Amino acid sequence: MATVGYCYDPLFAQHAMVPGHPECPERVMAIHQHLQHCGLMAHLAPLAAEPAAIHDILRAHEAAYVEKVLGRAPQREGELVWLDADTAMNPASVPAALRASGAAIGAVRQVCEGHLKRAFCSVRPPGHHAESWRAMGFCIFNHVAVAARYAVAELGLKRVAVVDWDVHHGNGTEQILAGDSAVFMLHSFQSPLYPHCGEVPLGANGCNLPLPSRSDGSVFRKRWLDEGLPALRAFDPELILVSAGFDAHRDDPLAQLQWSEEDYAWATEQLVCASRDGAAQGRIVSLLEGGYNLRALARSVEAHLRAMLSH
Ligand SMILES: [Zn+2]
Repeated sequence: MATVGYCYDPLFAQHAMVPGHPECPERVMAIHQHLQHCGLMAHLAPLAAEPAAIHDILRAHEAAYVEKVLGRAPQREGELVWLDADTAMNPASVPAALRASGAAIGAVRQVCEGHLKRAFCSVRPPGHHAESWRAMGFCIFNHVAVAARYAVAELGLKRVAVVDWDVHHGNGTEQILAGDSAVFMLHSFQSPLYPHCGEVPLGANGCNLPLPSRSDGSVFRKRWLDEGLPALRAFDPELILVSAGFDAHRDDPLAQLQWSEEDYAWATEQLVCASRDGAAQGRIVSLLEGGYNLRALARSVEAHLRAMLSH
């Protein structure tokens, strides 16, 4: 029976910036260990990650930017190269970023070919702040945009939805996919907060829901029910991609929303229902973005996956 895939590669824990940086290798390790301890791992299908081909990356990024990243990638152990004020590369970073995009592509293919019902890719570095021409906010390549473009270009999908519930606005995803009529984007995020944009969508193919600081999950749920989910259902995607950040959790140190694990379960259930009712036929692929309190992150991923499994 088709089930839920889980993609993790040790390379995702080798990419590292400075010691003490919140976007740390322990994030994906904590998720992996927690899924083993809580027993959920036994119900997930392991999914291998292959590196994305450069031509797959080029569907979302400018050639000059990709050349710059590949050309500046450090080779010596201990060497660190900064792409912007927040985003550094060690020797594992480019291989990890390529493999994270490849994980997204592989998961999309497996789900669209019917081998898996849904999938979660526990990747690092994250991707949703990376724009077509620059790295930003801990992100090098925009995996969700790469995956959306792959689904359209290689699998022939006509309508792909990107749902981003990370507490930070997915500015890179929006910059890359704005105006793309094959894609609909549903963004919710704390505002004002880094990257200080997104109050108004860049294109007609997006629904942006800024949420006030200190608001809890009930505020998010109401805006999803009133605005986000009706827009998503009207688009009737054939596949739903999720930029699954878990930093809206009340214990997260980088933001001030007050969500709980139950809010991530609820959001996932809503997407499962929306996808089952329409052309997506239940197909959801989610990718890890933010989430910086290790315990809250691991428990929120568990809630997300339990909802992916149980419907
Ligand atoms: Zn975030």
